[in-house]
Amino acid sequence: MKAFVMREIGRVGFVDKPVPKPGPNDAVVRTTRALICTSDSHTVHGGIGPRQDLTLGHEAVGVVADVGSEVRDFRPGDRVLVGAITPDWGQRAAQAGYASQSGAPLGGWKFSNTKDGVFAEYFHVNDADANMAKIPDEVADEAAVYCADMLSTGFMGAENGNIPIGGTVAVLAQGPVGLMCTAGARLRGAGLVIGVESVPARQELARTYGADEIVDFSKEDVVERTMELTGGEGVDAAIEALGADLTFQTAVKITKPGGTVSNTGYFGEGEFVQIPRVDWGVGMADKTIASGLCPGGRLRMEQLLRVLAFERVDPTLMTSHTFPFDQMEQAFEVSDKKLDDVVKVLVTF
Ligand code: ZN
Repeated sequence: MKAFVMREIGRVGFVDKPVPKPGPNDAVVRTTRALICTSDSHTVHGGIGPRQDLTLGHEAVGVVADVGSEVRDFRPGDRVLVGAITPDWGQRAAQAGYASQSGAPLGGWKFSNTKDGVFAEYFHVNDADANMAKIPDEVADEAAVYCADMLSTGFMGAENGNIPIGGTVAVLAQGPVGLMCTAGARLRGAGLVIGVESVPARQELARTYGADEIVDFSKEDVVERTMELTGGEGVDAAIEALGADLTFQTAVKITKPGGTVSNTGYFGEGEFVQIPRVDWGVGMADKTIASGLCPGGRLRMEQLLRVLAFERVDPTLMTSHTFPFDQMEQAFEVSDKKLDDVVKVLVTF
């Protein structure tokens, strides 16, 4: 089969690989749709160190091609969504409620990290009964594929923000994850959602997904403007959706005492992330800093698919580009170099 891989740090391309075989508890899925993620760029540029011919990608849906002898609930032919994070559910961290950290920090992240990813004609799924979900007939593949990471991570940002009904929320950056943080904040009952973003197309999407106010950081001071919009109080939850030291500091500054800084950002640079001491109430302002990695698992995926089945959110508005799999090199370049106002690149198989 054809697989799109990281040849080495900074270089991608196609290679031929054998179709994977399932172990007793596993499945093999024939890919139908996939999305390219900023994390794929981080990986290619050395974020997790060297990997030779590792298949990229972790966001995909498909049709079950083969299952192991112990798989109970799935059969070849089932349309399935697979979480980007595929934990080992027997691990201690999973039993403690932190499945994404199973086995090691971020240990639930296996695709295009510790095993081949989903940018291939077929991919392997560990612990299939616990990591796959059947896609309801009324949900299209090109919508369902957003649940793997974008909805799961974005909604986690809102969930970890502990948003009171009617509370105030700022979402710092409106990339695909930030947009789903915005949608999640609205679904969680926020009374005011502030979207921080400078790109007009993304500002527009943020409004569509539920931002009441847009703060353009290239034109105004985010701290000042947020304080103004919240009567000088700050927000109940500031969701960091970029992964930059400065943005994180802003999040701490605009969070009110008792509020939560909820991080979804991937901090790929520098040795430290800094907390502004005084705005943190010299460590005593009851400001919680929450973090997490995209939740995976069947239950989570079924819940997210229900959000789509009952039309609470339409993630397909984020699809700015579509490419067939054989044009993966061009597709990856658009996403990697952020060409042509890209938001999210969909790949069809
Ligand atoms: Zn992703």
